[in-house]
Amino acid sequence: MSLTDRDRKHLWHPYTQHKTAAPPVAIVRGQGALLWDESGKQYIDAIASWWVNPFGHSNRFIADAIYKQLTSLEHVLFGGFTHEPAVLLAEKLIEILPRNQQKLFFSDNGSTAVEVALKASLQYFHNQNQKRTTVIAFEDAFHGDTFAAMAASGISFFTQAFQGMLIDVVRIPVPVPGREQDSKAALREAIQNHDCAAFIFEPLVLGAAGMVMYEPQILDELIAICKESHVLTIADEVMTGFGKTGKTFACDYLARQPDMMCLSKALTGGTIPMAITTFTQQIFDGFYSDDINKALFHGHTFTANPTGCAAALAAISLWQQPGMQENVSRINMQHRNFLDTIKTHPRVATTRLIGVICAIEIKTDNHESYYGNLRNKLYDFFIQNGVILRPVGNIVYILPPYVITNEQLATIYATVAKALDQVS
Ligand SMILES: *Cc1c(COP(=O)(O)O)cnc(C)c1O
Repeated sequence: MSLTDRDRKHLWHPYTQHKTAAPPVAIVRGQGALLWDESGKQYIDAIASWWVNPFGHSNRFIADAIYKQLTSLEHVLFGGFTHEPAVLLAEKLIEILPRNQQKLFFSDNGSTAVEVALKASLQYFHNQNQKRTTVIAFEDAFHGDTFAAMAASGISFFTQAFQGMLIDVVRIPVPVPGREQDSKAALREAIQNHDCAAFIFEPLVLGAAGMVMYEPQILDELIAICKESHVLTIADEVMTGFGKTGKTFACDYLARQPDMMCLSKALTGGTIPMAITTFTQQIFDGFYSDDINKALFHGHTFTANPTGCAAALAAISLWQQPGMQENVSRINMQHRNFLDTIKTHPRVATTRLIGVICAIEIKTDNHESYYGNLRNKLYDFFIQNGVILRPVGNIVYILPPYVITNEQLATIYATVAKALDQVS
Protein backbone atom coordinates (compact mmCIF):
# COMPACT_ATOMS: atom_id res chain seq x y z
CA MET A 1 0.00 0.00 0.00
CA SER A 2 1.26 3.50 -0.81
CA LEU A 3 1.87 6.10 1.90
CA THR A 4 -0.99 8.08 0.43
CA ASP A 5 -3.38 5.14 0.94
CA ARG A 6 -2.13 4.48 4.48
CA ASP A 7 -2.43 8.22 5.28
CA ARG A 8 -6.14 8.11 4.43
CA LYS A 9 -6.90 5.60 7.18
CA HIS A 10 -6.01 7.79 10.18
CA LEU A 11 -4.83 11.26 9.22
CA TRP A 12 -6.73 14.53 9.26
CA HIS A 13 -5.05 17.31 7.25
CA PRO A 14 -5.07 21.09 7.80
CA TYR A 15 -7.58 23.24 5.88
CA THR A 16 -8.88 20.11 4.13
CA GLN A 17 -12.39 18.95 3.24
CA HIS A 18 -11.58 15.26 3.11
CA LYS A 19 -14.69 14.32 1.14
CA THR A 20 -13.70 16.38 -1.90
CA ALA A 21 -9.94 16.86 -1.59
CA ALA A 22 -7.49 14.99 -3.81
CA PRO A 23 -5.33 12.50 -1.89
CA PRO A 24 -2.18 14.12 -0.45
CA VAL A 25 1.14 13.78 -2.24
CA ALA A 26 3.53 11.65 -0.17
CA ILE A 27 6.95 13.31 -0.08
CA VAL A 28 9.86 11.06 0.80
CA ARG A 29 12.87 13.32 0.31
CA GLY A 30 13.93 16.95 -0.02
CA GLN A 31 17.11 18.68 -1.11
CA GLY A 32 17.57 22.41 -1.74
CA ALA A 33 14.45 23.70 -3.49
CA LEU A 34 13.43 20.19 -4.62
CA LEU A 35 11.12 17.52 -3.19
CA TRP A 36 10.47 13.96 -4.39
CA ASP A 37 7.34 11.90 -3.92
CA GLU A 38 7.06 8.17 -3.30
CA SER A 39 6.82 7.38 -7.01
CA GLY A 40 10.06 9.29 -7.65
CA LYS A 41 8.43 12.35 -9.21
CA GLN A 42 10.31 15.61 -8.61
CA TYR A 43 8.73 18.90 -7.51
CA ILE A 44 10.08 22.42 -7.17
CA ASP A 45 8.99 23.86 -3.82
CA ALA A 46 8.01 27.31 -5.13
CA ILE A 47 6.42 28.40 -1.83
CA ALA A 48 9.19 27.24 0.55
CA SER A 49 6.72 24.81 2.18
CA TRP A 50 4.36 27.50 3.50
CA TRP A 51 7.10 30.14 3.73
CA VAL A 52 9.30 28.38 6.30
CA ASN A 53 12.30 27.22 4.29
CA PRO A 54 14.78 29.84 3.00
CA PHE A 55 17.95 27.72 3.01
CA GLY A 56 16.75 24.58 1.26
CA HIS A 57 15.43 21.23 2.39
CA SER A 58 17.67 18.87 4.38
CA ASN A 59 20.15 21.65 4.96
CA ARG A 60 23.34 20.02 6.22
CA PHE A 61 24.56 22.98 8.32
CA ILE A 62 21.31 23.23 10.30
CA ALA A 63 21.07 19.43 10.55
CA ASP A 64 24.57 19.26 12.08
CA ALA A 65 23.72 21.99 14.60
CA ILE A 66 20.57 20.11 15.59
CA TYR A 67 22.42 16.79 15.94
CA LYS A 68 25.14 18.39 18.04
CA GLN A 69 22.56 19.97 20.34
CA LEU A 70 20.54 16.75 20.60
CA THR A 71 23.59 14.89 21.84
CA SER A 72 24.48 17.47 24.53
CA LEU A 73 21.12 18.78 25.79
CA GLU A 74 17.97 18.02 23.81
CA HIS A 75 15.51 19.73 26.13
CA VAL A 76 15.11 21.15 29.59
CA LEU A 77 12.16 23.00 31.08
CA PHE A 78 12.40 26.81 30.85
CA GLY A 79 10.42 27.56 34.02
CA GLY A 80 13.14 28.26 36.58
CA PHE A 81 15.92 27.05 34.24
CA THR A 82 17.89 28.46 31.35
CA HIS A 83 20.53 27.24 28.91
CA GLU A 84 23.18 28.50 26.53
CA PRO A 85 21.28 28.05 23.22
CA ALA A 86 18.45 30.31 24.51
CA VAL A 87 20.91 32.93 25.80
CA LEU A 88 22.96 32.88 22.59
CA LEU A 89 19.83 33.10 20.43
CA ALA A 90 18.50 36.04 22.45
CA GLU A 91 21.83 37.86 22.13
CA LYS A 92 21.93 37.15 18.39
CA LEU A 93 18.35 38.32 17.80
CA ILE A 94 18.80 41.49 19.83
CA GLU A 95 21.69 42.35 17.46
CA ILE A 96 19.53 42.08 14.35
CA LEU A 97 16.10 43.17 15.62
CA PRO A 98 14.97 46.81 15.56
CA ARG A 99 16.79 48.56 18.41
CA ASN A 100 13.76 49.09 20.62
CA GLN A 101 13.14 45.33 20.96
CA GLN A 102 14.69 44.19 24.25
CA LYS A 103 12.84 41.16 25.66
CA LEU A 104 12.08 37.80 24.07
CA PHE A 105 9.31 35.35 24.93
CA PHE A 106 9.41 31.87 23.39
CA SER A 107 6.52 29.74 22.12
CA ASP A 108 5.94 27.13 19.43
CA ASN A 109 4.33 28.56 16.31
CA GLY A 110 3.09 31.71 14.64
CA SER A 111 -0.36 31.57 16.22
CA THR A 112 1.06 31.28 19.73
CA ALA A 113 3.53 34.13 19.05
CA VAL A 114 0.50 36.27 18.16
CA GLU A 115 -1.52 34.91 21.08
CA VAL A 116 1.26 35.96 23.47
CA ALA A 117 1.47 39.46 21.94
CA LEU A 118 -2.31 39.97 22.19
CA LYS A 119 -2.57 38.61 25.74
CA ALA A 120 0.39 40.74 26.80
CA SER A 121 -1.26 43.84 25.25
CA LEU A 122 -4.52 43.25 27.08
CA GLN A 123 -2.81 42.48 30.40
CA TYR A 124 -0.43 45.42 30.06
CA PHE A 125 -3.40 47.77 30.46
CA HIS A 126 -5.16 45.50 32.96
CA ASN A 127 -2.04 45.71 35.15
CA GLN A 128 -2.46 49.51 35.17
CA ASN A 129 -6.19 49.25 35.95
CA GLN A 130 -7.01 50.67 32.52
CA LYS A 131 -9.94 49.21 30.65
CA ARG A 132 -8.64 48.62 27.15
CA THR A 133 -10.05 45.45 25.62
CA THR A 134 -10.32 46.08 21.88
CA VAL A 135 -7.75 45.12 19.27
CA ILE A 136 -7.43 46.82 15.88
CA ALA A 137 -6.54 44.71 12.83
CA PHE A 138 -6.60 44.87 9.04
CA GLU A 139 -9.64 43.63 7.15
CA ASP A 140 -7.97 40.76 5.30
CA ALA A 141 -5.38 39.94 7.93
CA PHE A 142 -4.24 36.47 8.85
CA HIS A 143 -2.63 36.01 12.26
CA GLY A 144 -3.19 32.33 12.97
CA ASP A 145 -5.74 29.80 14.14
CA THR A 146 -5.74 29.93 17.95
CA PHE A 147 -8.62 31.96 19.40
CA ALA A 148 -7.12 35.42 19.84
CA ALA A 149 -5.07 35.10 16.63
CA MET A 150 -8.22 33.96 14.83
CA ALA A 151 -10.18 36.91 16.22
CA ALA A 152 -7.59 39.27 14.77
CA SER A 153 -7.79 37.53 11.39
CA GLY A 154 -10.18 38.98 8.85
CA ILE A 155 -10.52 36.16 6.35
CA SER A 156 -14.01 34.85 7.11
CA PHE A 157 -13.27 31.47 5.57
CA PHE A 158 -11.15 30.63 8.59
CA THR A 159 -13.26 32.16 11.33
CA GLN A 160 -16.94 32.05 10.38
CA ALA A 161 -17.83 29.11 12.65
CA PHE A 162 -16.59 30.99 15.72
CA GLN A 163 -18.23 34.41 15.42
CA GLY A 164 -19.51 35.66 18.76
CA MET A 165 -16.89 33.69 20.68
CA LEU A 166 -13.94 35.95 19.92
CA ILE A 167 -12.25 38.93 21.58
CA ASP A 168 -13.35 42.40 20.40
CA VAL A 169 -11.66 43.44 17.19
CA VAL A 170 -12.22 46.52 15.04
CA ARG A 171 -11.13 46.15 11.44
CA ILE A 172 -9.64 48.85 9.27
CA PRO A 173 -8.94 48.78 5.51
CA VAL A 174 -5.51 47.64 4.33
CA PRO A 175 -3.71 50.83 3.16
CA VAL A 176 -3.02 49.54 -0.36
CA PRO A 177 -2.15 52.29 -2.84
CA GLY A 178 -5.20 54.54 -3.14
CA ARG A 179 -6.74 53.54 0.20
CA GLU A 180 -4.19 55.12 2.55
CA GLN A 181 -6.52 57.90 3.71
CA ASP A 182 -9.42 55.48 4.33
CA SER A 183 -7.15 53.35 6.44
CA LYS A 184 -5.86 56.31 8.48
CA ALA A 185 -9.35 57.68 9.02
CA ALA A 186 -10.65 54.27 10.10
CA LEU A 187 -7.76 53.88 12.55
CA ARG A 188 -8.46 57.31 14.10
CA GLU A 189 -12.15 56.46 14.36
CA ALA A 190 -11.44 53.07 15.94
CA ILE A 191 -9.20 54.65 18.57
CA GLN A 192 -11.79 57.35 19.30
CA ASN A 193 -14.78 55.02 19.63
CA HIS A 194 -13.28 52.00 21.37
CA ASP A 195 -11.00 51.26 24.31
CA CYS A 196 -8.14 50.04 22.15
CA ALA A 197 -5.21 48.13 23.58
CA ALA A 198 -3.28 47.28 20.44
CA PHE A 199 -3.06 47.43 16.67
CA ILE A 200 -1.77 44.23 15.08
CA PHE A 201 -0.62 44.13 11.46
CA GLU A 202 1.36 42.13 8.93
CA PRO A 203 4.01 44.68 7.93
CA LEU A 204 4.08 45.53 4.18
CA VAL A 205 2.72 42.17 2.97
CA LEU A 206 -0.48 40.35 3.96
CA GLY A 207 0.49 36.79 3.16
CA ALA A 208 -2.63 34.65 3.42
CA ALA A 209 -4.75 37.43 1.90
CA GLY A 210 -2.85 36.75 -1.35
CA MET A 211 0.39 38.70 -0.87
CA VAL A 212 -1.44 42.03 -0.65
CA MET A 213 1.19 44.79 -0.39
CA TYR A 214 1.36 48.36 0.91
CA GLU A 215 4.04 50.99 1.44
CA PRO A 216 6.23 51.54 4.53
CA GLN A 217 5.38 55.29 4.66
CA ILE A 218 1.71 54.68 5.40
CA LEU A 219 2.53 52.06 8.03
CA ASP A 220 4.80 54.62 9.70
CA GLU A 221 1.85 57.00 9.77
CA LEU A 222 -0.48 54.37 11.25
CA ILE A 223 2.08 53.56 13.95
CA ALA A 224 2.43 57.28 14.72
CA ILE A 225 -1.34 57.58 15.19
CA CYS A 226 -1.27 54.63 17.62
CA LYS A 227 1.63 56.11 19.58
CA GLU A 228 -0.27 59.41 20.07
CA SER A 229 -3.01 57.47 21.89
CA HIS A 230 -0.75 54.96 23.62
CA VAL A 231 -2.20 52.11 21.59
CA LEU A 232 0.41 49.36 21.45
CA THR A 233 1.60 48.16 18.04
CA ILE A 234 2.32 44.55 17.10
CA ALA A 235 4.18 43.67 13.91
CA ASP A 236 3.34 40.10 12.94
CA GLU A 237 6.54 39.19 11.05
CA VAL A 238 5.79 35.47 11.14
CA MET A 239 5.77 35.39 7.33
CA THR A 240 7.88 38.46 6.46
CA GLY A 241 10.76 37.83 8.88
CA PHE A 242 14.28 36.75 7.91
CA GLY A 243 14.61 38.28 4.48
CA LYS A 244 11.36 37.68 2.58
CA THR A 245 10.90 41.38 1.83
CA GLY A 246 14.57 41.99 0.99
CA LYS A 247 15.56 43.23 4.45
CA THR A 248 15.95 41.05 7.54
CA PHE A 249 12.59 42.27 8.83
CA ALA A 250 9.86 44.19 7.03
CA CYS A 251 10.03 46.63 9.97
CA ASP A 252 13.55 47.53 8.83
CA TYR A 253 11.83 49.61 6.11
CA LEU A 254 10.13 51.73 8.79
CA ALA A 255 11.18 54.93 10.54
CA ARG A 256 9.00 54.09 13.58
CA GLN A 257 9.24 50.76 15.31
CA PRO A 258 6.45 48.60 16.75
CA ASP A 259 6.23 47.74 20.46
CA MET A 260 6.08 44.00 19.78
CA MET A 261 7.10 41.61 17.03
CA CYS A 262 6.05 38.03 16.28
CA LEU A 263 8.55 35.64 14.71
CA SER A 264 8.24 32.03 13.57
CA LYS A 265 8.20 30.19 10.19
CA ALA A 266 11.76 30.82 8.85
CA LEU A 267 13.14 31.34 12.39
CA THR A 268 14.59 27.81 12.44
CA GLY A 269 15.09 27.59 8.67
CA GLY A 270 11.99 25.43 8.40
CA THR A 271 13.25 22.64 10.65
CA ILE A 272 11.84 22.73 14.18
CA PRO A 273 8.60 24.46 15.23
CA MET A 274 9.51 27.51 17.31
CA ALA A 275 8.29 31.07 17.75
CA ILE A 276 9.32 34.20 19.59
CA THR A 277 7.39 37.28 20.60
CA THR A 278 9.67 40.27 21.16
CA PHE A 279 8.94 43.28 23.39
CA THR A 280 10.23 46.71 24.26
CA GLN A 281 11.58 47.27 27.76
CA GLN A 282 8.50 49.40 28.47
CA ILE A 283 6.09 46.51 27.91
CA PHE A 284 8.23 44.17 30.01
CA ASP A 285 8.28 46.76 32.81
CA GLY A 286 4.49 46.79 32.78
CA PHE A 287 4.64 43.25 34.20
CA TYR A 288 7.60 43.81 36.53
CA SER A 289 6.24 44.05 40.04
CA ASP A 290 6.26 42.63 43.57
CA ASP A 291 2.73 41.46 42.78
CA ILE A 292 2.68 37.91 41.37
CA ASN A 293 -0.68 38.67 39.71
CA LYS A 294 1.04 41.12 37.38
CA ALA A 295 3.24 38.41 35.84
CA LEU A 296 2.55 37.12 32.34
CA PHE A 297 0.95 33.77 33.08
CA HIS A 298 1.58 32.13 29.78
CA GLY A 299 3.89 29.29 28.82
CA HIS A 300 4.24 26.17 26.73
CA THR A 301 5.87 22.88 27.63
CA PHE A 302 8.53 23.15 24.93
CA THR A 303 9.28 26.84 25.59
CA ALA A 304 12.79 27.72 24.35
CA ASN A 305 13.53 24.10 23.41
CA PRO A 306 17.36 23.99 23.16
CA THR A 307 17.30 22.01 19.91
CA GLY A 308 15.00 24.60 18.34
CA CYS A 309 17.29 27.39 19.62
CA ALA A 310 20.32 25.66 18.08
CA ALA A 311 18.46 25.35 14.77
CA ALA A 312 17.52 29.04 14.89
CA LEU A 313 21.12 30.06 15.63
CA ALA A 314 22.30 28.03 12.64
CA ALA A 315 19.55 29.48 10.43
CA ILE A 316 20.42 33.07 11.39
CA SER A 317 24.08 32.47 10.66
CA LEU A 318 23.12 31.12 7.23
CA TRP A 319 21.09 34.28 6.64
CA GLN A 320 24.17 36.34 7.56
CA GLN A 321 26.51 34.33 5.33
CA PRO A 322 28.02 36.19 2.38
CA GLY A 323 25.89 35.52 -0.67
CA MET A 324 22.60 34.74 1.05
CA GLN A 325 21.22 38.29 0.88
CA GLU A 326 22.52 38.49 -2.71
CA ASN A 327 20.33 35.47 -3.42
CA VAL A 328 17.33 37.51 -2.34
CA SER A 329 18.30 40.35 -4.72
CA ARG A 330 18.91 37.82 -7.49
CA ILE A 331 15.45 36.28 -7.04
CA ASN A 332 13.92 39.76 -6.90
CA MET A 333 15.53 40.61 -10.27
CA GLN A 334 14.39 37.33 -11.83
CA HIS A 335 10.84 37.92 -10.54
CA ARG A 336 10.89 41.45 -11.96
CA ASN A 337 11.91 40.20 -15.41
CA PHE A 338 9.24 37.53 -15.34
CA LEU A 339 6.51 39.94 -14.26
CA ASP A 340 7.55 42.29 -17.08
CA THR A 341 6.99 39.52 -19.61
CA ILE A 342 3.51 38.58 -18.39
CA LYS A 343 2.15 42.00 -17.27
CA THR A 344 0.45 42.51 -20.61
CA HIS A 345 -0.99 38.98 -20.82
CA PRO A 346 -4.76 39.37 -21.38
CA ARG A 347 -5.50 37.24 -18.29
CA VAL A 348 -3.28 39.18 -15.89
CA ALA A 349 -5.07 41.86 -13.86
CA THR A 350 -2.18 43.09 -11.68
CA THR A 351 1.21 41.97 -10.44
CA ARG A 352 3.03 42.69 -7.16
CA LEU A 353 6.63 42.30 -6.03
CA ILE A 354 8.74 42.76 -2.92
CA GLY A 355 11.89 40.84 -1.97
CA VAL A 356 11.48 37.19 -2.95
CA ILE A 357 7.67 37.45 -3.07
CA CYS A 358 5.83 37.99 -6.34
CA ALA A 359 2.11 37.72 -6.96
CA ILE A 360 0.00 37.62 -10.09
CA GLU A 361 -3.69 38.40 -9.93
CA ILE A 362 -5.62 36.60 -12.66
CA LYS A 363 -8.67 38.31 -14.17
CA THR A 364 -11.94 36.60 -13.30
CA ASP A 365 -15.58 37.37 -14.04
CA ASN A 366 -16.88 36.69 -10.58
CA HIS A 367 -15.09 37.05 -7.29
CA GLU A 368 -13.02 33.89 -6.97
CA SER A 369 -13.27 32.38 -3.50
CA TYR A 370 -10.32 31.27 -1.42
CA TYR A 371 -10.73 27.64 -2.39
CA GLY A 372 -12.74 28.22 -5.58
CA ASN A 373 -12.86 26.35 -8.87
CA LEU A 374 -10.13 28.22 -10.76
CA ARG A 375 -7.88 28.00 -7.74
CA ASN A 376 -8.25 24.22 -7.60
CA LYS A 377 -7.63 23.81 -11.34
CA LEU A 378 -4.48 25.92 -11.12
CA TYR A 379 -3.25 24.02 -8.09
CA ASP A 380 -3.75 20.66 -9.84
CA PHE A 381 -2.07 21.95 -13.01
CA PHE A 382 1.00 23.08 -11.07
CA ILE A 383 1.26 19.78 -9.17
CA GLN A 384 0.95 17.79 -12.42
CA ASN A 385 3.77 19.90 -13.82
CA GLY A 386 6.00 19.32 -10.82
CA VAL A 387 5.73 22.78 -9.26
CA ILE A 388 4.30 23.33 -5.77
CA LEU A 389 2.27 26.54 -5.80
CA ARG A 390 -0.87 27.16 -3.76
CA PRO A 391 -2.88 29.96 -5.35
CA VAL A 392 -5.08 32.03 -3.04
CA GLY A 393 -8.32 32.37 -4.99
CA ASN A 394 -7.27 33.94 -8.30
CA ILE A 395 -3.86 35.04 -7.00
CA VAL A 396 -0.80 32.97 -7.90
CA TYR A 397 2.23 33.85 -5.82
CA ILE A 398 5.82 32.60 -5.77
CA LEU A 399 7.91 32.63 -2.58
CA PRO A 400 10.85 30.28 -3.19
CA PRO A 401 13.70 29.19 -0.94
CA TYR A 402 16.61 31.65 -1.28
CA VAL A 403 18.87 28.85 -2.53
CA ILE A 404 16.71 28.17 -5.57
CA THR A 405 18.66 28.22 -8.85
CA ASN A 406 17.86 30.45 -11.83
CA GLU A 407 17.05 27.32 -13.85
CA GLN A 408 14.51 26.21 -11.24
CA LEU A 409 13.01 29.70 -11.22
CA ALA A 410 12.78 29.59 -15.03
CA THR A 411 10.83 26.33 -14.76
CA ILE A 412 8.40 27.89 -12.28
CA TYR A 413 7.89 30.95 -14.52
CA ALA A 414 7.35 28.79 -17.63
CA THR A 415 4.78 26.71 -15.75
CA VAL A 416 2.90 29.79 -14.54
CA ALA A 417 2.94 31.26 -18.06
CA LYS A 418 1.62 27.96 -19.44
CA ALA A 419 -1.15 27.96 -16.82
CA LEU A 420 -2.19 31.46 -17.92
CA ASP A 421 -2.64 30.12 -21.46
CA GLN A 422 -4.19 26.77 -20.64
CA VAL A 423 -6.09 26.80 -17.32
CA SER A 424 -9.47 28.50 -17.08
C1 LIG B 1 1.47 31.54 9.17
C2 LIG B 1 1.17 32.81 9.89
C3 LIG B 1 0.72 32.79 11.22
C4 LIG B 1 0.39 31.52 11.96
O1 LIG B 1 1.51 30.74 12.13
P1 LIG B 1 1.31 29.18 12.49
O2 LIG B 1 2.69 28.69 12.74
O3 LIG B 1 0.65 28.56 11.30
O4 LIG B 1 0.44 29.10 13.70
C5 LIG B 1 0.54 34.01 11.85
N1 LIG B 1 0.77 35.16 11.22
C6 LIG B 1 1.22 35.22 9.95
C7 LIG B 1 1.48 36.54 9.31
C8 LIG B 1 1.41 34.04 9.24
O5 LIG B 1 1.82 34.09 7.97
